[in-house]
Amino acid sequence: MYCPRCGKENPDGSAFCNACGSPIVGGAAKAADKSADGSDKSSGNIIGSVASLISAVAALAVVAIIVFTWISVLSEW
Ligand SMILES: [Zn+2]
Repeated sequence: MYCPRCGKENPDGSAFCNACGSPIVGGAAKAADKSADGSDKSSGNIIGSVASLISAVAALAVVAIIVFTWISVLSEW
């Protein structure tokens, strides 16, 4: 990452610039971007998990309906 103050390249994960010693907010911003992406992904994951849960429940309901129909058909015999 590059120091936002002096622009010197610093190794990733370094909290302070090796040249000017200023806190590298770029890393924090990068982490924030990652966390933002993660939050977006997590929110998407939440939506996706809800959707997957709904689809799973729907699939379970379909299976239950099929099984119920099957059992009722068998019981009719
Ligand atoms: Zn610097």
